[in-house]
Parts: sequence; structure tokens; C-alpha cells
Amino acid sequence: MKAELPAVTLPGGRQVPALGLGTWHMGEGEASPAEEAASLRAGLDLGMTVVDTAEMYADGGAEEVVGEAIRGRRDEVFLVSKVLPYNASRAGTIAACEASLKRLGTDHVELYLLHWRGRHPLAETVEAFETLKAQGKIGAWGVSNFDESDMKELLGAAEPARPSANQVLYNLARRGIEYDLLRWSQVQGIPIMAYSPLDEGRLIGHPALEEIGRIHNASSAQVALAFLLTKAGVIAIPKSGSPERVRENFRAAEIRLTSEDLRLLDEAFPPPTRKRPLEMI
Ligand code: NDP
Repeated sequence: MKAELPAVTLPGGRQVPALGLGTWHMGEGEASPAEEAASLRAGLDLGMTVVDTAEMYADGGAEEVVGEAIRGRRDEVFLVSKVLPYNASRAGTIAACEASLKRLGTDHVELYLLHWRGRHPLAETVEAFETLKAQGKIGAWGVSNFDESDMKELLGAAEPARPSANQVLYNLARRGIEYDLLRWSQVQGIPIMAYSPLDEGRLIGHPALEEIGRIHNASSAQVALAFLLTKAGVIAIPKSGSPERVRENFRAAEIRLTSEDLRLLDEAFPPPTRKRPLEMI
């Protein structure tokens, strides 16, 4: 049976699959760029078409790997890249985006994010995003590592424009956003992109995940991803440089976690009971 990926609707009405592909550490020489590109293509073959990258990763090297992976199949991909906060001035954002497009070998990205908040006023970055949108170089814009208060400030600064996503740290071991930001984002219709959905690999082999995995004939990674797939408006973007592990991650969509599974997960990874500042990596 081939799993159907659940979809998330973006503010513009476009639907994207809730399971995508991360690229941090690609292009750093850990694995060969050919193997990394093959991993991304393995994901695309299965419909994991949201590919997340950034100018920061390997100083542009990850974008080059993505460019290699999507060559000849650009139309299948929902491409996401990010501008570094110190480049996020009015002119700097545009120059950074153009440099990313060059490395990616394309003339546009579907979504362009501010990687985290920096010293440049939000209104200036948004103005640059809107210019890039008018020029057709980006389809939509959003942010990353913004807590609820940052999002409220952003909505005020951007009006009438609105962000199309907020990419934040979210996985079973880091459930802080369930206290406030997740619900707020769902009500606002602003998707959350869950980064480090496997807690950078630390969730692999966790006893509670292994136990639930045994019931579903699944791995700990698949259970961790299946948990995120139960959340409305959340797109998880696990990274793997191995085609086999990408295929394994995809099959997380086959798992139907029961209320008893979710209870066991709450026991092992208690949901937040009070506000904590947004964690970030
Ligand atoms: P993840 O939680 O995705 O974990 C990645 C690690 O898990 C890698 O070491 C990978 O190794 C391993 N892994 C992946 N799948 C499996 C599997 N099935 N079994 C065993 N091990 C596995 O961490 P990331 O930090 O990479 O987060 C995902 C993406 O989110 C990033 O790549 C990036 O695109 C984005 N991100 C965004 C941030 C932001 O500030 N906006 C910050 C951090 C990440 P291997 O490759 O060898 O399979």
C-alpha cells in the first residue's frame, strides 16, 4: 500500500503535503552531494515535494545540492528557502534571494522565509518580500523562529500582507508550542513548519517510540513523524541524506496512532502546562 500524505492548506489556498524534506548539513561533505541529491529525489518520487533549504546551510552548498536534485523536475517541487537576519534589509533581502535562486538553478521559490528575527525592522523585510513577490521571484513569504508575540507584531507591521508560514522547532521532545503558538497559528490559518521533527536524530531509538512502533510494525522515527502528522496545519520536514531513510520516513503516513498510543506519548513526552519561550536551534 502506498501511503497518502495528508495535506496542509496555505493561506493562498494552495495545498502542500504535510511531510517534506529538510536539507540542513547537506553540502557539508558528510555524505556525497550525489547521495544527498538522490535522497531528495527519492522523496520527490514519493510526493514529499516540500523541500526546505536556506542560504545559511553550508554557505549556500545545500541550495546547490537542491538545485542538482530538482534539475529537470522543477515543476514538482514546492521550494522553500530562507534569508539570514543580517541580510534582511530592504536591498539585502532582494540580493540574498537572487543569489539563492542562482544556486538553486531556478527563477523563483514558492516560499521565502526570514530565518530568525534580527536587527532589521520587520516592515523593511516585508517590503522586500512583497517586492520579490511582485517580481515573481517568490510565490509567498513567511518567517521562522517567531513566537506568538513576534507573530502578532509581524501581522501589525505587515498589514495588509500576511505571512504564509512560521517554521519552528517542534517535535515530541519539544512540545512548547502546543501551549499557545500552535493553536494561535491554526486559528489564524498560518501553517507551522515543524523543523527538527526527529529532534536532530535524538528521538531515534527512544523506548516509548520503540514500544508504540512494535504495535504498528514501525520504527521510532516513523512514530515521531506520525505524531506530528496528527496535528492540523503542521508540515514536518525531516532531513535524511539516505534514500532508504527518506523512504522509511515517508511510510510514517501509513501509521494511524490510536488514542492509547497518544496517551503513552503524553506520558513519555508530557505536553506543556505553562508558557515557555520558544526554543530554537
Ligand atoms: P531532524 O530532526 O530532521 O533529524 C535529522 C537527523 O536524523 C539526521 O542526523 C538524519 O541522519 C537522522 N535521520 C533522519 N531520518 C532517520 C531515520 N528514519 N532513522 C534514523 N535516523 C534518521 O533534524 P534537522 O535539524 O535536520 O531538521 C530538519 C530540517 O529542518 C533541517 O534539515 C532544515 O531544513 C530545517 N531546520 C530549520 C531550522 C530553522 O531555524 N528554521 C533549524 C533546524 C532545522 P541521516 O541524514 O544520516 O539519515
